[in-house]
Amino acid sequence: MDIIIRKARIWGRDGLFDIGIEHGKIIEISEKIAGSADKEINADGRLVTPSFIDPHLHLDKVYTYHMAPNPDGTLYGAIYSLWQVKKKYTIEDIKKRASRVIRSALVYGTTHIRTHVDVDTIGGLTPLKALLEIKKEFKDVVDIQVVAFPQEGILRDPGSEELMWKAMELGADVVGGMPHSEWTDDDMKRHVDIIFEIAKEYGKPIDAHVDETDDPYSRSIEYFALKTFREGLSGKVTADHVCALSAYNDYHAAKVIDLLKQANVNIITNPETNIVIEGRLDTYPKRRGLTRVKELWKAGVNVSFGQDCVQDAFYPYGKADRLLTAWALALMVQMTTPEEIEAVMNMATYNAAKIFGIENNYGVDVGKNADLVIIDTDNVLDAIRLQPARLWVIRNGDIVAQSKYTHDLYL
Ligand SMILES: [Zn+2]
Repeated sequence: MDIIIRKARIWGRDGLFDIGIEHGKIIEISEKIAGSADKEINADGRLVTPSFIDPHLHLDKVYTYHMAPNPDGTLYGAIYSLWQVKKKYTIEDIKKRASRVIRSALVYGTTHIRTHVDVDTIGGLTPLKALLEIKKEFKDVVDIQVVAFPQEGILRDPGSEELMWKAMELGADVVGGMPHSEWTDDDMKRHVDIIFEIAKEYGKPIDAHVDETDDPYSRSIEYFALKTFREGLSGKVTADHVCALSAYNDYHAAKVIDLLKQANVNIITNPETNIVIEGRLDTYPKRRGLTRVKELWKAGVNVSFGQDCVQDAFYPYGKADRLLTAWALALMVQMTTPEEIEAVMNMATYNAAKIFGIENNYGVDVGKNADLVIIDTDNVLDAIRLQPARLWVIRNGDIVAQSKYTHDLYL
């Protein structure tokens, strides 16, 4: 075998197990694997989980905060502020910034990233081309899916529809969208129709920013979900943010959640950015801005969460650590029972795998891809609470990162 991990505490199983890895796959899990491997790792009772998946990250914008801070903290404050930076984007500059975040993500155990890149008449196709190059360059260590994202709208940015089609021709993996950003409901519907038309033409999934606002009358999610259902694309469509769902009255929200469940639309919340961007026009009490995560999860909707931003006009913080974002999410949506804590961990892993379309190959089981992380703790609660070192990160059966945090305490 290539690697044997000894005495692993596999998330979801009782007891300690050895994990045998060969040719990038998990080929054996048992209490004691006989013989030896090229590389032996002693997990010594530590937690082993599948490696993490970040399904929502804007890699073209990372580390632009100092070039274009947000004057008022709102979503549109950030969008407008970035125009000056986008105009000057170069492929090399984007690649340099994106690589820094990918390296951090790897250190923290993330081996799969879905990235939204702006496709509009300001930056053109430069971000997309940069991320398609990055995807190739990092393919042995990180799986990257590139979403063509019309950040400036489609109808309110004439010319961007043509760029969206070109983006798919160049090799984008997913069709993005932002219907609520159009000026009228008619345009919102046309926006949704266009992205579905593109997705159907190229046979690609859809992953759109939907109703990222506190406005209770922002209701593009209904048309978006119904379209998913009627076009037979259930399971292949994802709605991000969906903040307005928290602003609807409870009766209307219940109806929308039912529709999302029936249409099998995935939901991605972005807790760190949403709590900072939303609620800016509120006085007190201020809304948290996140969608109804707990209610969606309880209704059986597939929910995951993303980092969204690292040091850009939307969010000056962020470090691409799934466990830190998991902790933030758990606080913000009050997920504190043992069952809820497990659910948060599922959102960083298995639920995201469904969105990524890799659920059949994902998990710590025989026959699955050897994409694993050994965390310096023995339980999920402490993994989220303390965000301990990811001692070993394994991708396709290769060790791609190792960390150890040490302290000296003088008592
Ligand atoms: Zn986003």
